[in-house]
Amino acid sequence: SAAAPEAAPRITVLGTGYLGATHAICMAVLGFEVLGVDVDQAKLDRLNAGQVPFFEPGLPELLVKALESGKLRFTSDYAEAGAFGDVHFLCVGTPQQSGSNAADLRYVESAITALAPHLARRALVVGKSTVPVGTAARLTGLLNALAPAGEQVELAWNPEFLREGYAVEDTLRPDRLVFGVRSAWAEERLRTVFEPVIEQGSPVVVTDLNTAELVKVAANSFLATKISYINAMAEVCEVAGADVHQLADALSYDTRIGGRFLRPGLGFGGGCLPKDIRAFAHRAEELGVGQAVAFLHEVDAINRRRRSRTVDLVRELAGGSLEGARIAALGAAFKPNSDDIRDAPALDVARMLQEGGAAVRVYDPEAMGNAQRAYPSLEYAQSTLEAARDADVVVLLTEWTEFREIDPEMLGAVVAQRKVVDGRHALDPAAYRAAGWEYRALGRP
Ligand code: NAD
Repeated sequence: SAAAPEAAPRITVLGTGYLGATHAICMAVLGFEVLGVDVDQAKLDRLNAGQVPFFEPGLPELLVKALESGKLRFTSDYAEAGAFGDVHFLCVGTPQQSGSNAADLRYVESAITALAPHLARRALVVGKSTVPVGTAARLTGLLNALAPAGEQVELAWNPEFLREGYAVEDTLRPDRLVFGVRSAWAEERLRTVFEPVIEQGSPVVVTDLNTAELVKVAANSFLATKISYINAMAEVCEVAGADVHQLADALSYDTRIGGRFLRPGLGFGGGCLPKDIRAFAHRAEELGVGQAVAFLHEVDAINRRRRSRTVDLVRELAGGSLEGARIAALGAAFKPNSDDIRDAPALDVARMLQEGGAAVRVYDPEAMGNAQRAYPSLEYAQSTLEAARDADVVVLLTEWTEFREIDPEMLGAVVAQRKVVDGRHALDPAAYRAAGWEYRALGRP
């Protein structure tokens, strides 16, 4: 007969940013008791008050539900976390080091150092942050050395693949779960914690720590390469007089290639892809296999060129000089359905346009606060039409639905000149041209 059912493990989530807050809230909604831990008291106060500190569709409702159920709390107290948790998820940031391509692991190390002395009984620590291969193996020693429970505390790695804008869906119904483990016990614990997710159909890949860490950076490298691939084709199209939009469309019917992540335009940004491919290339160099992923430097370079080429196109439409040109910049977030502006192509372009002498007025449906804090010298508008008023050139930088759906006639009524650069291949050129606009997009004649 069945053994007595083990009590459901209690979960802590260390780091409550985009990833950690989402994970903590979703785990509580799935029925676990969850304690979120962060060092940022203002963030904790907001979360405890039922406010998600960033824009993520569907998450605010789930936060309120989880708090009301009594299953979710947030604290800065690591002693409380150590006493509370059976499974501790590590979700702190791993940004790019300043002055280097390497990942900055100081937050991962400080979270482990803060938690470990409070681990007095058997527990599983599960890394979710994106880290260079070999990090988990190294941290295992640190964890065991600092924890009173010693070897009873085990480290596993469960890389996270969620997309901002779809974070809830991706957490509850991920394409796959990857469990990097060193024992059957760790695998069993993870299967227990993810039981509701596995039951609804997500496949599980069980592997070692190193492979688990690599899956994440390999996936992001592939996605970045796919985007830069089509943007490299766009560069060729520009000089060959071909149309990359039609090229991408034709390629996408090949099921071996597929159409997703094959949209030409301004390229990728955000808090993950750029820093992850750089950290991967750096780590491969450390391991003596830099050659194997040297192409990632090219992927990065192609991606950066999109930004300066977009500025060139705006300059061209402005009559050859940006000096004194009035530019409406539509979008600031690194992608739609997010307020995240980390390494945002949109704001990079806006900054370069301003440096070229243009007066740049930015509007974004959700990222205004973040953009204003990071780029206080740009001008900001409260709506698309306000941004576009008297503009010499309108440039679409983030493909929010609100921008895609705007009527070219209505937009045309407020601008000084009907000239648009579609940095995201998101507008309908025929509709714009029919309304008397000069429409330009990289890689399209
Ligand atoms: P973030 O900056 O939004 O959040 C990190 C949080 O960690 C912050 O709230 C910070 O205050 C907190 N923190 C820092 N030091 C701490 C400590 N010692 N103890 C507790 N909390 C601490 O970052 P994010 O976007 O959530 O990313 C976190 C990790 O997840 C990164 O490795 C990232 O690459 C990875 N990841 C992110 C996404 C995404 O879409 N954002 C997707 C997959 C993987």
